[in-house]
Amino acid sequence: MTKGIIIKNAYATALLDAKNTVLKDASVLIEGREIKKIYTKEETAEIEKLAAGGEYKVIDGAHNLVLPGFVNTHHHFYQILTRNIPKMQDEKLFDWLVDLYDIWALLDEEWVHYSTLAAMGELALTGCTATTDHHYVFPKGGQHFIDTQFKAAEQIGLRFHATRGSMSRSKKDGGLPPDSVVQTEEEIMQDCERLINKYHDASKHSMRKIALAPCSPFSVTPKLLEETAKFARAKKVKMHTHLCETSDEDDYCLKTYKLRPIDFMESVGWLGADVWFAHSIYVNEKEIERMGKTGTGVAHCPSSNLRLGSGIAPVPKMLECGVPVGIAVDGSASNDSSDMLGELRMAMLVHRVGTGVSSMPASNVFKMGCQHGAKILDFNTSGEIAPGMAADIIIYDLDSIGYVGALHDPLSSILFAGFNHRVNYNITNGKIIVEKGVLKTADERTIVENGNRIAERIVDRKKYIDIR
Ligand SMILES: [Zn+2]
Repeated sequence: MTKGIIIKNAYATALLDAKNTVLKDASVLIEGREIKKIYTKEETAEIEKLAAGGEYKVIDGAHNLVLPGFVNTHHHFYQILTRNIPKMQDEKLFDWLVDLYDIWALLDEEWVHYSTLAAMGELALTGCTATTDHHYVFPKGGQHFIDTQFKAAEQIGLRFHATRGSMSRSKKDGGLPPDSVVQTEEEIMQDCERLINKYHDASKHSMRKIALAPCSPFSVTPKLLEETAKFARAKKVKMHTHLCETSDEDDYCLKTYKLRPIDFMESVGWLGADVWFAHSIYVNEKEIERMGKTGTGVAHCPSSNLRLGSGIAPVPKMLECGVPVGIAVDGSASNDSSDMLGELRMAMLVHRVGTGVSSMPASNVFKMGCQHGAKILDFNTSGEIAPGMAADIIIYDLDSIGYVGALHDPLSSILFAGFNHRVNYNITNGKIIVEKGVLKTADERTIVENGNRIAERIVDRKKYIDIR
C-alpha cells in the first residue's frame, strides 16, 4: 500500500487557476484522495528525495502535460448500444426520438450495465474524471437501472452525479413518447426519494450525487416539473432537464403552454443556481441575461447539436453574461461517441464559425471543461490543481507525431493538435484508473464483446439494417 502518487518533473503542469498558470518541470504530490503539494522546478531536490523513499507510486512526467480532469455535464449512457443506426443517421430530433423510443422500450439490466461501463470507460480514456448521466427511460422492470449505474461507476472509478430522469406524458396525453416508456408521477417521485436517501453524498470530495431530471417539456407534465422543483429544494439536490434544443420545441411550448421554453420553466420554478439545462440553443439575449443573473447552468453539447442539425448554442454570449457553461458529449446515439477531449475541441471550433475566430479561445474551453463543469455537477473540489483539491488529474504524453511542432503552448496543444485522444494517465479521487493508455479498472475486451452482443440482440436487423 503506497502513501500516494508523485507526478514527477512534468514537461508542463496546467493548474487552471485564476491566473491560468502553466509550470515547467513541476511535480505534483497526491496523498489519499487529495492533492497535497505542488513542487516547482526549484524544489526538484526535495521531490526527488521523497520519490526515492519508496513510499509513493512515481509517474515520470517527462514529455507529459498534466492538467485537471474534464467534467462531462450531460450524457445518456444507455444510448451507446443504439448509435449509428442507418435509419436514424439523418433524422432531426423529434423523428429520431420517436424511432428510437421503440428500441429503448426493450431496455434491461444487462444493457444498462454494459453501456454504463462502455460510456464511462471511453470517458475515462479521453480525459474525463467526473460525469453525470441523464437516465429517463424506465420500462416495466427497470426500477433499479440507476443502482446498476452506480455499481458500474464504482468499478470504473469516475466521480458520478447520476440524475433520476423521468417521462410521464405519453402520446395519448399530448407528449412525444409511447406509453411503454412512461411512468406514473407517484412512481417517479417515490423512486427519486429512494435514490436520494440511498446514494446522495454531500460531503467534501463526494463520489456520488443525485439530481432530479424530468426529461423535457414535451415528455412530462407541468405538475411533475413543479413537484420535482419543490422536492429537490427540500432535499438540497440539483435539477436538470433538456431545454431549448430545437425550434420544434419552441413551437411545442408556444402551442401547448403559450410561453417560450425559458418562461415556461420559470413559471414552474425551474431557474436558479441549482438548475442546469442541456443544450439551450434557442435562447435570446434577454433570456441569457436571466440565466446569468439566476446562475442557471448549461451543458453545451456541440457535436450532438451539429449531428442532429439542431443549431449552435450562443455560448460566447452566455459566458459574457456569467452563465456557468459546462461541456458535454450528450447521449451516444447523437454524437455518436463519448470522446471528452474531442468534445472540447468541437466546442472550440464550432463558435469560430458561428461568431468569429476570436470568440472561443482555448482558455475558455478549458474553463468550461473543468471549473464550470465541476461547479455545475457540484463537485466543487474538482477542476483545478491546487493543494486541498480532489486528486482528479489527467496526463497526456506529448512525445508523439501528433504533437510535433505544436509544443509552443503545451496546454492548448491537445485542443489544436494531436489525433489520439487517449490519456496516458487518468487519476480520479487519488486512484490511477488509466495507466499508460490502458483502462485498469475494467477489461476493455469484455466490454466490447458484451456490448456488441447486446446491441445485436436489441436492434432488429431486418427492420433497421440493410446489410446482406
Ligand atoms: Zn440529452
